[in-house]
Amino acid sequence: MKYDIVIIGGGLSGLVSGILLTKAGRKVAIVSSGHSALHFSSGSFGLFGQRDGNFVERPLEAIAKLPASHPYRKVGIDAITDYVKRVKPLFAEAGINTHGSEERNHYRLTPIGAFKPAWLTIDDYATVGKPDNLPWGKVAIINFNGYLDFYPSFIAKGLEEAGLSCSLKSFTLPELETLRKSSTEMRAANIARVIVGDVIGDVAREVNRLAGDADTVLMPAVIGLFDDEPVKLLREKVDRPLYFVSTQPMSVGGMRSQIRLRRYFKKLGGTYLLGDSVTNGVAEGDRMMKIFTVNLGDMELSADYFILASGSFFSYGIMANPVSIYEPIFGLDIKAPTTRSEWYHKDIFKDHAYMKYGVTTDDEFRVMKDGRTLDNMYAVGAVLGGCNSMKEESGAGVALMTSMKVVDNILAR
Ligand SMILES: Cc1cc2nc3c(=O)[nH]c(=O)nc-3n(C[C@H](O)[C@H](O)[C@H](O)COP(=O)(O)OP(=O)(O)OC[C@H]3O[C@@H](n4cnc5c(N)ncnc54)[C@H](O)[C@@H]3O)c2cc1C
Repeated sequence: MKYDIVIIGGGLSGLVSGILLTKAGRKVAIVSSGHSALHFSSGSFGLFGQRDGNFVERPLEAIAKLPASHPYRKVGIDAITDYVKRVKPLFAEAGINTHGSEERNHYRLTPIGAFKPAWLTIDDYATVGKPDNLPWGKVAIINFNGYLDFYPSFIAKGLEEAGLSCSLKSFTLPELETLRKSSTEMRAANIARVIVGDVIGDVAREVNRLAGDADTVLMPAVIGLFDDEPVKLLREKVDRPLYFVSTQPMSVGGMRSQIRLRRYFKKLGGTYLLGDSVTNGVAEGDRMMKIFTVNLGDMELSADYFILASGSFFSYGIMANPVSIYEPIFGLDIKAPTTRSEWYHKDIFKDHAYMKYGVTTDDEFRVMKDGRTLDNMYAVGAVLGGCNSMKEESGAGVALMTSMKVVDNILAR
């Protein structure tokens, strides 16, 4: 099968690359093994939230000062300033409605009741402009009986330390009792599947009853798996402001984002090979010619360009054994010491070197193998090295900005 571009990985970076290339009229296929980081998302997209442990207020100003080794520097601050403005409308086209601005970070309420900087957040999630001035008054935190991946008491502690008073309530519905029979069924995605249609009215009735004299209601973000219609309906029916707080994985908001992007890509004409894994590729000289997958067997996928969007360690885009760190599909170059003790810091909370390991690229994000650039193969997102996106809260931003840059690079050729 021949495509203009084949993308390896269907996380945020692979999907956004695929959408933009398909919109530009290219024939694109995405091959994706399975879960991506989006499925574990906080519901917020970080551009640049922290530097050396301090919160960053103005992300673009901080990005402009990053070292040359950072992927943002290869994208370039002028391109980033342009790209960031396009993300919110692009997400909205796909059906992901967000709020936030690249001019100034806002703060998301975390599952443990702390506040962290963010760039864009899914509309229904709890955020504030500044954590030192919480606008919610008395808060009712309302959970579903038996749902254990949400910790209301942690959230209450955080909010009470910030000066708010909180009440903790929970309820159940006949529809949820079937799930409760086995605690393994009482998970976010299963709850989301139940709370649709008429059940939303029943949830609203219980929430209104339990909220008492609260000014604001917070609930776990377990509603609206395929789109945000159930969320909008519930918020209309609840008689005071209602916001959602991210839960322990799986993340319903993150899964919704992945589903929306995937459906948009397919609607635009893209081919999405779900649940298939790329095993290897065949290069001739400095060009990748074709790749092979588990499900397609001998049937090759050939393309003019390839984009590696296979993620970092979490998604097996980068792997480690006791003696080396490697890129498992093509054996691409990675700059990492061979001495294992240099990969990590003994203090788990410190900055670990391995978090910055990723595939080596040239200035155009073309990958390298055995010291030579592969002319038609690019890398985007978390598979790139050069930054610790967890410490920086820059994961989504790096995925988006590098994807947009690579798409421009390919279209310019
Ligand atoms: C647990 C977790 C939570 C995070 N939460 C946030 C957050 O809330 N906000 C934020 O801004 N950032 C977050 N990040 C950072 C995250 O890395 C980026 O935001 C971004 O989502 C990365 O996207 P990606 O597409 O580059 O990689 P990934 O999301 O990792 O996607 C890579 C995809 O490639 C597929 N793949 C791998 N190997 C193959 C193969 N051989 N063949 C086919 N497919 C393959 C994987 O299955 C996966 O679907 C989080 C990261 C992790 C690990």
